[in-house]
Amino acid sequence: MLTSFTIVCKYSSEKNNSVTNITIIYVDKITKVNVLLVSEKTIERLCLYRRFLRELRVQRTTYAYSHQLAKMAGLTAAQVRRDIMAIGYYGSPVRGYEVEKLLESISDFLDGPDSLGVALIGVGNLGRSILAYLNRRNSRLNVTAAFDTNPEKIHRVIVSCHCFPLEDYPRVVREKNIHSTIIAVPADQAQPVADLIVKSGVKGILNFAPVHLSVPEEVFVENIDMAIALEKVTYFAQQDNKARAER
Ligand code: ATP
Repeated sequence: MLTSFTIVCKYSSEKNNSVTNITIIYVDKITKVNVLLVSEKTIERLCLYRRFLRELRVQRTTYAYSHQLAKMAGLTAAQVRRDIMAIGYYGSPVRGYEVEKLLESISDFLDGPDSLGVALIGVGNLGRSILAYLNRRNSRLNVTAAFDTNPEKIHRVIVSCHCFPLEDYPRVVREKNIHSTIIAVPADQAQPVADLIVKSGVKGILNFAPVHLSVPEEVFVENIDMAIALEKVTYFAQQDNKARAER
C-alpha cells in the first residue's frame, strides 16, 4: 500500500520558470513498491543509458535526444522515452534530455540518494580484477570493503580496498551501509558465503562463482558465469561460420 510519498519538482532557470522535470521520490516502504513497479529489463536499460550519458558527459555534450540514446543502446526511441518517463523524468521536445540532470535522476533512482556500500568477498585473481575495474569508474557504487579468509591478504590494502577477515563481515556491513556484495570465491565456498551475506541482512548478490545459490526470495541474485557466456558465444560463432560456409 502506498502510504506517503514526496514529490520534488525541479524548475528550470529559464525565464518562464517552467517545470522541466518532476522526480517522484517514494519514501520508507514506498521505496520497495517503487522498485517493484519497474521491471528488471527496465533497470538493465537504465544502467545502459547511464553508461552512455557518462560518455556524452565526457564529450561535453549537454543535451541528448531519445533517438541518440536509442541508437547507442540498439533500442527504439519510444522505448527509451518510456523507460525514462518511468522514473519521472521528462525531456524537452526541442532540446531533448539534459545530460547532467538525466544522469542525476537515473543515479538517484538506481542507487538511491545516499551512497550505498558494496562489498567483495574473495580477493583472488578475479576479485582483484573486479576491484580494479569497478573502483576506477566514476560511480557512486564503489567497492568499499573486501573480505577474505587467507591470512596473507587480511588487513592489507588490495587495489585501494581494505581486506577484512570474513568474520568481520556482519559488523562492517552495518558500519559501511553495505547493501550488495560480490562473490568471487571458489565454487565450493559460494553457498556458505551467500548464507553469511543473507544472515547479515544484505539483499543484493552479484555472484561470479559458477554455482547456483539458494537464497530467500527477498534476496536478489545476479549470476555472471563467464565460462558459460564464452561457451554460448563460441557455439553461435560456430553456427555463424557453418552458415557462412553453406552459402
Ligand atoms: P589466489 O591464488 O591469489 O588466492 P585465486 O584466484 O587462484 O587467487 P581462488 O582459489 O579462486 O584464488 O579463491 C579466490 C579468493 O577467495 C582467494 O583469495 C581465497 O583466499 C578466497 N576465499 C576462499 N574461500 C573463501 C571464503 N570461504 N571466504 C572468503 N574468501 C575465500
